[in-house]
Amino acid sequence: MNTQNNTDSFLENYQSSKPAKTSKKEFVLSDEIMALGAEIIGEKRIDVYPAKIGYVLVSPNISKTIPAKCLRTSKELKFFSNLDYVIEVSDEIWTALDKESRKILLEHELRHILVLQNDKTGDWLFKIRQHDIQDFSKVISDYGIEWRKKIKLCLSSLYDLTPAEEDSIQI
Ligand SMILES: [Zn+2]
Repeated sequence: MNTQNNTDSFLENYQSSKPAKTSKKEFVLSDEIMALGAEIIGEKRIDVYPAKIGYVLVSPNISKTIPAKCLRTSKELKFFSNLDYVIEVSDEIWTALDKESRKILLEHELRHILVLQNDKTGDWLFKIRQHDIQDFSKVISDYGIEWRKKIKLCLSSLYDLTPAEEDSIQI
């Protein structure tokens, strides 16, 4: 009898003394971000044809230092989703940003898409474009570099980041 009670209270103590668990991530397809993505691709004439792109909102965030990211789909993910790329966006910062900053962040992620075609076979190749200088030069010439500071500040105040964590922000 007593043993059972002890076990229960041990478990209770054990659970309550555990550090806050890493919160579970939720993934939701976002029509809103997809519509904004399509708008940017049209406005900025970003060449993504014929890539199929999925837009996913990750709650509460991808991580505290990753506001958004662009990934190529693995063979398996492509098989199940029929997508060539997935753009993930961290929900909390997305909610905190104004429309202008959202657009720049999304444009930045779209510019990671690099579609090539094999000359001989005509097959499409879906790659990730690395940043030219530290940002894409097109984004810098259109918006300067202030947008990155704004996103860093926003993440920093949302999550109370240390300077070291601020330096590790990846955009
Ligand atoms: Zn980037």
